[in-house]
Amino acid sequence: MQYYHQPIDVVLKELDVSFRDGLTSEQVEKRLQQYGLNKLKEAKKKSNFQRFLDQLKDPMILILLVAAVISFILAIIENDPKSFFEPILILVIVILNAIIGVLQENKAENALNALKKMTTLQARVIRNGKEELINAEDLVPGDLIRLEAGDVVPADARLIRSVSLKSEESALTGESVPSEKDAEAIVKKNAPLGDRIDMVYSGCSITYGTGLAIVTATGMDTEMGKIANLLNEADNAQTPLQLKLAQLGKYLGILALACCAIIFVVGLLNGQQPMELFLTSISLAVAAIPEGLPAIVTVVLSIGVTKLAKKQAIIRNLPAVETLGSASVICSDKTGTLTQNKMTLVKAWVDGDQDIVDITTDDPKEIKELLKLGTLCSDGSIVFVDGKETSIGDPTETSIISAARKNGMTKEELNKKYPRLGEVPFDSDRKLMSTINKMDDKLVVITKGALDSLIPRLASGDVEKAKALNEQMSKNALRVLAIASKEIDALPDQINSESIEHDLHLKGLVAMIDPARPEAKEAVALCKKAGIRPIMITGDHVITASAIAKELGILNPGDLAITGVELDDMSDSELDGKIDQISVYARVSPENKIRIVKGWQRKNQVVAMTGDGVNDAPALKAADIGCAMGITGTEVAKGASDMVLMDDNFATIVYAVKEGRGIYANIKKVIGYLLGTNIGEVVTVFMAMLLFHESPLASMQLLWINLVTDSLPAIALGMEPVEKDVMDQKPKPKNEGIFAHGFGVRIILQGIMFGGLALLSFWIGLKTTDTLRGAETMCFITLALSQIVQAFNMRSEHSLFKIGPFGNKRLNGAALLSLFLVMLIIFTPLNIPFNLEILPWNDFFIALALAFVPLVVMELSKAFGLIKHAEAKEYNK
Ligand code: ATP
Repeated sequence: MQYYHQPIDVVLKELDVSFRDGLTSEQVEKRLQQYGLNKLKEAKKKSNFQRFLDQLKDPMILILLVAAVISFILAIIENDPKSFFEPILILVIVILNAIIGVLQENKAENALNALKKMTTLQARVIRNGKEELINAEDLVPGDLIRLEAGDVVPADARLIRSVSLKSEESALTGESVPSEKDAEAIVKKNAPLGDRIDMVYSGCSITYGTGLAIVTATGMDTEMGKIANLLNEADNAQTPLQLKLAQLGKYLGILALACCAIIFVVGLLNGQQPMELFLTSISLAVAAIPEGLPAIVTVVLSIGVTKLAKKQAIIRNLPAVETLGSASVICSDKTGTLTQNKMTLVKAWVDGDQDIVDITTDDPKEIKELLKLGTLCSDGSIVFVDGKETSIGDPTETSIISAARKNGMTKEELNKKYPRLGEVPFDSDRKLMSTINKMDDKLVVITKGALDSLIPRLASGDVEKAKALNEQMSKNALRVLAIASKEIDALPDQINSESIEHDLHLKGLVAMIDPARPEAKEAVALCKKAGIRPIMITGDHVITASAIAKELGILNPGDLAITGVELDDMSDSELDGKIDQISVYARVSPENKIRIVKGWQRKNQVVAMTGDGVNDAPALKAADIGCAMGITGTEVAKGASDMVLMDDNFATIVYAVKEGRGIYANIKKVIGYLLGTNIGEVVTVFMAMLLFHESPLASMQLLWINLVTDSLPAIALGMEPVEKDVMDQKPKPKNEGIFAHGFGVRIILQGIMFGGLALLSFWIGLKTTDTLRGAETMCFITLALSQIVQAFNMRSEHSLFKIGPFGNKRLNGAALLSLFLVMLIIFTPLNIPFNLEILPWNDFFIALALAFVPLVVMELSKAFGLIKHAEAKEYNK
C-alpha cells in the first residue's frame, strides 16, 4: 500500500492500530513473528573453521605447509619412520598457531559486538496506551512512534502529527537540505521519495521540530533496506597503526626472503643438506615476520575498548582509540559535562521591581505569574517514582516547573487550564523557545530564553535593569533565562520565529544554579598535568561560564573568555593569533564549534570535542575525537561521534585519554617485544651460518619459539595495566611514528643482543659439549628463555623492581606456560624430533645464565636513563 497517498484514518485502519493507545502487546507479539526484527540483514558470520583456514592463508604459512608436504614425500621415499616427525611437527605447530589466532580473533570480535549492542538505536513508542523507550529493533508495522529533533528515524513511518518537522534524507534522496514534513498532506500516487512529505524514512535524521508517526515498514522492507545491499559497509575499519604495521610486515617479508636466499646459498656452498637448509630458511622467514602482530594489536585494541566501555566511554570507531592517546585539546560543553545539570531555580526578578528575590514555596503573586508563564513555555515534566520527585526532560525547564510546583501550580493543571495551541521549539542557534497558549479567551505568545537573544525582540520592559541584574546573577555562576509574552488576535498561518517572536513584553528573569561536577576539577588538573588544554564551550552567558570555568581551573589569570559573536568578528588569522589564550567560548552556535576545532587543528593539535545537539554533528565529525553525550545527546550526535560518553562526564573523557595512552603504550611494548626477539632469531641464524658454517637452530626449534612460545607472553604484555605515569607526559604529536625517539634503534640493538647471546651460548656449547646437538640445545635455551625474560623487561621503562616484577598476572601465567613448552621439548622424548638433548647441568646453567643477561642490560639501561623516552624526559622537565 502506498501509505503516503492515503489519509491518516485509512492508514490507521489498514494497520489496525489505535490512534490513542498504539498497538497492544498481543498485536506486537504477532507482528514480530510475522515481520521479524526491525534490522537490516547482516553479513554472514564466518565459522570458526573458515577463520581457521583464513589463518593458514598467510603466504609464509603456505610456504611452510608446502615445505611440510615436500618433507613428507621425502620421508615416504626414505621410508624411515623418524623422518615423518618433521612434517608432522610442522603441521602441529602451524595448527597450534592458527588456533591461537582464531581464539584471539574471536575475543576481539566478541568485544566489539558487545559494544555495538550498547549503542543500538532507541525508539519512543506508544503501546498499550503508555509511552515507552524500546530498542528500535523491536518495532513492528503499526507502532506509534514519537520523533523529535536529533532522532534518527527508526523505521519507515507515515506522519500523523507534525510540528515544524524537518528531516534530512540525503542517504535516500541525495538531497542534503532537510525537507519540511507535513502530517496533514496527502501526497499524489507514485510520487518520488523526496516529495513524500507526509512520510519519514528509516535511517534519516530529524533535524527540527517534533512529530508522531505510525510505522509502515520495518527491517529489510524499509526504503533503506531496499538499498541495503548496495550499501558498502566499511565495517572492519583498520586503525592507522594497523595499516602501518601491515606495511611494515611486507617490508620485513622482503628483507626476510633476501636473508633466506643468502643463507640458502651460503649453506649450499658449505655443503649442507639442501632439504634441511630449505626448511631452516623458511623457518627463518617465518621467524623474521611478526605474523602474530596484527592480531595481537587488534586484541589489545578491543580489550582496551571493552575496558573503556566499563568506565562509560563507548568507542564507536576503533581508530579513535589510538587518536585518544594523542589528544592535546579537549573542548567540552559546560552544562551536564562540567556541571551536574541538576538545575535548581533560586532567584527571580519581575520587570518593574527593584530587586531580585529568592525563590521559596510561597512567592509573591507576580513571581508566581512569572513561574506560570515559564512553565507553560516548557516541555519537561515532574513525576513521582516510588514517592520520589523525578524530573523528565530538559533540566533548565524542569527547574522552572519544579519551582512552580512548590508554589502550588502543577504543569498538568496549568496545561489543562491554558492549552498550548502552537509552539516554536528551542534551538541552540536562536537560544529561545516560544509557545502560544489560550489564556482566558486570549491568545498569548510566551517566549523564554537567553536575555541577549530576547532583547532585539522586545517592545517594552526595563532592558537596562534586566541587563544589569543578568550580569550580577551570572557572575555568581547562575544561568539566567528571560521570560516575555504578548497577546495576539489570531493564530498566524505559519507558526515560526519570524511570525511570533517580535514585539514582546519583558516579564522578568529567572535564575538557576547548576553546580560544577566535583570530579571535573580533578580531571581538569589531570589534563593540565598531561599537557592537554581543557577548553569550555557553552551556549550559556559569558559571565556564568567564566565563573564556573574559574572555579574548575579552566579559566586562569591571563586567559580570555569570548562570545560566539566576538568569534564571528575574528578572521581566521586573528583567531590563530589568539586561540592559545582563549579558554572559554560562551554563547556559541554549533557553527562556532567547527571554527574552534579547525583553529586548533591548524596548530597541529589533536582535538576532542563534545556535542549533543543535532547541529553539533558537523563539529563532532570535524574533531579528531568527536564525543557525544550518552544521556542528553541526540541519536544524530551519537551517530556522528567517535566516542559516546554514557555519563556525559568530562572526567570520562580524561579517563579515556589516559586509557588511550595506556593502550598505545601497550601496543608499542608488544611491537618492541616481537620485533626485537624476531631480529634476535634472524641474527642468530644468519651470523652462525656466516661464522660457524652451521645453523645453530633447527627449523623445528625456530618455529617452536616463534609460533608457540613467544605468542603467549606477547598477548599478556598487551594487557599490561596502564602505567601510573602515562599522564605525566605530553601528548604524542599527531603524525609521530611508533618508532620515533630512538625506539626503532633500541629494538634493533636489543635484537642484536639476543642474537649475540644465543651465538655465545652456541659457541660455548661447541667448545664444551661433544655434539652439535648439545650446542644447538644451549643456543635454543638461551634464545627461548631470553625472550621470556624480555617480555618482563618490556613491561615498563622503569626498573622492574620499582614497579614490582610480577605485577602482570597474565604475563606470569604466560611465561610459566612458555617455560613449560620449552622444557617439554628438551626433557621429554619430544627432544628427538626437535633435535635437542638433556644437557649436563653446568651447560644448562650457562645457557640459562646467558638468558638472564638481557634483564641486567635492560635494568642498567633503565637506571642510566637510556630507555626512557626522549619525549618523556623532556616533558618532565
Ligand atoms: P552547553 O554548555 O552544553 O553548550 P547550554 O545548555 O548552556 O550548554 P544551550 O542548550 O545551547 O547551551 O543553551 C544556550 C542558552 O539558551 C542558555 O544559556 C539559555 O539562555 C537558553 N536556553 C537553554 N535551554 C532553553 C530552553 N529549554 N528554553 C529556552 N531557552 C533555553
